[in-house]
Amino acid sequence: MGWSSESDSSEFYAFEPERFLIPPMEGFLRRMFGAPWGLILVSGPANINLGTIFSFLANFSLQQSYYSEISTESNDFEQLEKEKRKLVTIEEVIHEAKQVLQSSDTEDGADDPEEREWRSHFRRNSDIIFIKHLSPDVVSTAVENALTGNLVAAGIRAESSFTALKHLQELVPREHLVAASLMGIIALNTVNRICPHCKIRIEHQLTNDDMILFGQTENAVHSHAGAGCKECNGTGYKGRILIHEGFETSSKIRTKIMQSLPLRQLRILAKREGMETLLDAAWSLVNAGETTLDEVTRIAEATDPGGNDPKTQ
Ligand SMILES: [Zn+2]
Repeated sequence: MGWSSESDSSEFYAFEPERFLIPPMEGFLRRMFGAPWGLILVSGPANINLGTIFSFLANFSLQQSYYSEISTESNDFEQLEKEKRKLVTIEEVIHEAKQVLQSSDTEDGADDPEEREWRSHFRRNSDIIFIKHLSPDVVSTAVENALTGNLVAAGIRAESSFTALKHLQELVPREHLVAASLMGIIALNTVNRICPHCKIRIEHQLTNDDMILFGQTENAVHSHAGAGCKECNGTGYKGRILIHEGFETSSKIRTKIMQSLPLRQLRILAKREGMETLLDAAWSLVNAGETTLDEVTRIAEATDPGGNDPKTQ
């Protein structure tokens, strides 16, 4: 057992890079991992295996630096290999710092097989620091590194990028540090997939409240649902589909984070700047006949960051 198998239910959905690495996510990731420094959060609820995503992102960042080197100059591939970014884990950074400060003979987590696996995955072959879980223990080291020339990618358990941002604000109560360090958030979630064996078409009239909640302008919706059959044990669903969103800290958003703008307003601003949210992703799966309106409602409620300042809650 290790970090790559932390969730038993992960077998019910597949991480498909070709469904993930599409616009606007592709450009977003290129900007995130092309940045010289800063903090990138990778979030998902507990039923998502962030280890798989981290492996993908580690490979993506290596390729990214590889291709950018090629496009700039030199055809010296040996040199390019050498210049590939180094990957280190926060445990190594802390360990190094400890060694400098004191010659400690015990290594935190060395006996933990999960830690050993994590270390072996992200040995030093790139200069990005990957943090499996942004806990109170490592958050100050992470932010410090992000602000002093390192690119740091950190995992956080949250339903959406805005609830992830809320957690970050709780972990780092100084808004200027959050605003200055945060580059962006990659947020993942899943919706249940309609069972293909009992799928039926449903005409639905949205209420005004639902239209506002889903951000829709038409109230007539052609949707689908599973009637329930032997294949899906009567649930109407079979498997899950991974959905994602990318939240980017633009200069305007950075200023608003500094001013402690409530998260719900921050979301409106991000939408105006062109962000495609998890709710948009869930809605497009309703249009594609892959998930239900119930699932969209669940995502809408789960990803709502709340209207109040997180620090006063
Ligand atoms: Zn069925």
